[in-house]
Amino acid sequence: MSGGGKPRPQTVGEQDDSRAAQPSEAGGPAGSQLKAPRKPSLQTTRSTELYHRALELLPGGVNSPVRAMRAIGRDPIFITRGEGSTIVDVDGNEYIDWVCSWGPLIAGHAHPAVVDAVASAASDGTTFGAPTKGEVMLAAEVTARVPSVEMLRMTSSGTEATMSAIRLARAVTGREHVLKFAGAYHGHVDGLLAEGGSGLATQGIPASPGVPAAAAEATVIVPWNDPEAVVAAAERFELAAILAEPVPANMGVVPPDDGFLELLRACADQTGALLIFDEVITGFRVARGGAQERSGVLSDLTILGKVIGGGLPAAAYGGAAVLMERIAPAGDVYQAGTLSGNPLAVAAALATLELLPGKAYRRLERTTEKLASGLQEAAKDAGIPVTVQHVPGLLTPFLSATPVRDYRQAAAADLETYGAWCRALLARGVYPPASQFEAWFPSLAHTDADVERTITAARAAFEEVR
Ligand code: PMP
Repeated sequence: MSGGGKPRPQTVGEQDDSRAAQPSEAGGPAGSQLKAPRKPSLQTTRSTELYHRALELLPGGVNSPVRAMRAIGRDPIFITRGEGSTIVDVDGNEYIDWVCSWGPLIAGHAHPAVVDAVASAASDGTTFGAPTKGEVMLAAEVTARVPSVEMLRMTSSGTEATMSAIRLARAVTGREHVLKFAGAYHGHVDGLLAEGGSGLATQGIPASPGVPAAAAEATVIVPWNDPEAVVAAAERFELAAILAEPVPANMGVVPPDDGFLELLRACADQTGALLIFDEVITGFRVARGGAQERSGVLSDLTILGKVIGGGLPAAAYGGAAVLMERIAPAGDVYQAGTLSGNPLAVAAALATLELLPGKAYRRLERTTEKLASGLQEAAKDAGIPVTVQHVPGLLTPFLSATPVRDYRQAAAADLETYGAWCRALLARGVYPPASQFEAWFPSLAHTDADVERTITAARAAFEEVR
């Protein structure tokens, strides 16, 4: 992170420890004579103070649960600013950020082109509740990239986009049941919080108090990568939609087996259900046109979020014009939003997508692969069973000796060691997703040096938690 005129932050704790733990120093004959490296610690006094105040004002001290870092057994870290691949917390600790706001920041923090676009849009007015030229430009860019999308409607969050796509699928098919996969997340839509997890198709039960039983009953849950379960569920229920993250990233990254997306497509075609790909994470990330470009399997409706807002609140759903024209005011399916297509978010999106030509994905893929193989090797050297699963722009190091193909296997990972390893990474200036069931998000801002520093820290952190 370049200083850029801002005060230089302190670096975290004793990062020298991770250097001391490198094989060249600690692993060789000379290394054995070194004193054991001091365990680095993280000073987060100001974060702790803010957290205690936040607990009085915000449920759990946060505005979205995973930020509380409970899954890795520590209190949240309050962030003050970011630049490129780096974030700085309120105590002045600096971290290489592998979360990047859970996906939107594919160009890194505070990219000058994005910041300029937003500032310029803001100076013209932040919202009008009337159409703008930018929305048309953005829709043209999205439809040019995503093969199955001819027309789209913008919303302010992925949750809203999912909810609206399902409403449309139900209107088009005249059916109510929606098939989703165990461990997939599509936002906090009532019916979709239902979880399954058993080997067979199950009728959903509410996973949160406050969800009406009727909303959960219309959800059918099957295990990911289980063709027989999908076929059986599609025969048993009249499905309005088969809803899938084409590369699930909310149980950690669990790519589809060969032929599985094709099976979903065929199953939808045979039963009259719509295939909905939730590309909130994969869209504009795993390829220029998302997972459907990469796999060649096209959905009927596509849900987009995260990158499409360039770091501001925006999402969208889209598909063939003949489907999308059912949406009001072209058609009879009602859906609206005061801030939908907000000019600042649209400006951020256009600037971000401009930074994402085809060749950007080769860079993202290289960064992801380097990180994945480095983490895999570091774990192996430390004798810790880890399986790193990845696609371009997304990866998860599962604390599991064997590959993870579904949610049940993801849930069997060693969550305690993952948590301890994450805490050890934070103490070494690396900020990982604070849950085994989330993806790491490499960005275009991450350099080879970031990857190397991360692997060095990961190696030391594995040694520490072994
Ligand atoms: N779908 C997927 C695949 C997601 O990962 C998320 C959020 N992480 C959502 C939908 C919901 O998006 P939002 O948080 O913007 O409501």
